[in-house]
Amino acid sequence: MPHINNPMEIYKLLNGSNCRECNEKTCLAFAVAVFKEKKSIDACPYLDKEVIDRYGGAVEKPNTIDEYKAEAIEQLKQKISSIDLSEAAKRLGTRFSNNKLTIKILGKDFSVDPKGNISSEIHINAYMVVPVLNHLLNGSGKSPDGNWITFRELNGGPSRYAHFQQCCEKPLKQVADTYPDLFKDMLEIFDGKQIVSHIDSDVSIVLHPLPLFPIMVCYWKPEDDLESDLHIYFDSTSDDHLDIESIYTLNEGLVLMFKKIALRHGS
Ligand code: SF4
Repeated sequence: MPHINNPMEIYKLLNGSNCRECNEKTCLAFAVAVFKEKKSIDACPYLDKEVIDRYGGAVEKPNTIDEYKAEAIEQLKQKISSIDLSEAAKRLGTRFSNNKLTIKILGKDFSVDPKGNISSEIHINAYMVVPVLNHLLNGSGKSPDGNWITFRELNGGPSRYAHFQQCCEKPLKQVADTYPDLFKDMLEIFDGKQIVSHIDSDVSIVLHPLPLFPIMVCYWKPEDDLESDLHIYFDSTSDDHLDIESIYTLNEGLVLMFKKIALRHGS
């Protein structure tokens, strides 16, 4: 029986189009109605049979979101404790010393011990923990090939793309529109590299949330009657390093971090 801890977990399954065919005003309202058991999930005609089969029957909702996250992290830590971390370091091309694997996240060192505990001299973004542990467990050592693709082109990307736009690209565009130092921070604080990409954007910055997992943030400034635009691209080897859920969570975490920085600076 699947766990559902809050309406957002249902919302993430929907396409985000707010088309109202379920007789709710928005996908979020539908998600809340399903969570409160006022609607059946199959009232949305756009869900895959697999999703309806999984969530259409009884679901357990005993945990808070934090408990759920903690549970996921605990499960991953148990798996980490059963692998050879030095082998994982070799596979991923990272350092291993003093019984700890060290991996760079946005240019900063993070260490992982054999029990899966992550430590760093800087703040550990909670959103990074699940993707990092997943990467250590399942990531291949494949180097990025420099071919940039959209979220929609990743394995499992099409069904999550609307949410990715809504929860990652759109809020990051809003930060870029209102906080002029966003790209300077990406370059100076988070070890980003400005590149000239074949995508004809005004700004193209490559960040490394994980050494083998780069993302490219492209921003188009507003011009005449045209609104600004922002998209996040992924190396075509990304599926070899993280599953779609981890890629989504990692980007959600990055965007929240940039939002917080912008708020702190009063934008
Ligand atoms: S939940 Fe489904 S039917 Fe309802 S608004 Fe969203 S996409 Fe449309």
